[in-house]
Amino acid sequence: MVVDVHVHTFPDNLAIRALQKLVDKADNRITTVGDGTVGGLLKQMRAAAVDYAVVCPIATRPAQFAGILAEADALRSGERGAEAAAHLIPFASVHPDDEARFSHLRQVAERGIRGIKLHPYYQPCVVDSSEMLEYFRCCRDLGLVVQCHCGFDIGFPLDPVCNPARIGRVIRSVPGLRLIAAHLGGWLQWEEALSHLVGQDIYLDTSILPMNATEDAPQRVLREHPVDRLLFATDWPWLSFGEGIDFVRSGMGSLAHEQLVLGGNAARLLGIKKPAPW
Ligand SMILES: [Zn+2]
Repeated sequence: MVVDVHVHTFPDNLAIRALQKLVDKADNRITTVGDGTVGGLLKQMRAAAVDYAVVCPIATRPAQFAGILAEADALRSGERGAEAAAHLIPFASVHPDDEARFSHLRQVAERGIRGIKLHPYYQPCVVDSSEMLEYFRCCRDLGLVVQCHCGFDIGFPLDPVCNPARIGRVIRSVPGLRLIAAHLGGWLQWEEALSHLVGQDIYLDTSILPMNATEDAPQRVLREHPVDRLLFATDWPWLSFGEGIDFVRSGMGSLAHEQLVLGGNAARLLGIKKPAPW
């Protein structure tokens, strides 16, 4: 079973423009591998035999909470098609500045949505601030998985709001929080991830860009972190499923480990009972 714990989709009518904006913001240093729509995602999942993908929305304003929740419901109910309902696992998004954040987090959990996405650059916050520790305690107590961008962001080069040292403080301050640190714990900050996160009780997702796949530091994170705390991810549409799977395989010593990282660990974390073959 293959489970990708980190993909993004955009509404059909906005996807091209939204992706172009992100590429521009990154000075064309990143390229897309897909069109960013639900349909485009499902097509590529099918081609690569990816059973499930966790869809990670990002509320850039508190008011987007309700719309994002409605979209998650639409994906799960079949309103976006039977394939979306069978293969996609939508997360929700609660902006850290949302005055109703605690009741909104509760609402997410009560709907049976398994987690939330957090992106501290697009939802400005400092991950280890006292306000955010309270937010994370609420997530933990509700049983919500938190999928958090970690490390550098190509669009925000100088601001370390979610670097590995800060993420390390979060996991020490909120024991029991089920936190997925994206990009192997800190995109372009893997030396710091090695010293602050590797070996700790934290899930690291394997989404990186193709140009990082053979670099020494990300390879070391992949080899040295406990195998039951690594989760396959692509950050689609920024990395293809094929390249992402190859990267995981490049760091695993056995087929059993490969299977854990590609899907077994995510199944356990997210309560997935069985594969969803195409
Ligand atoms: Zn992402």
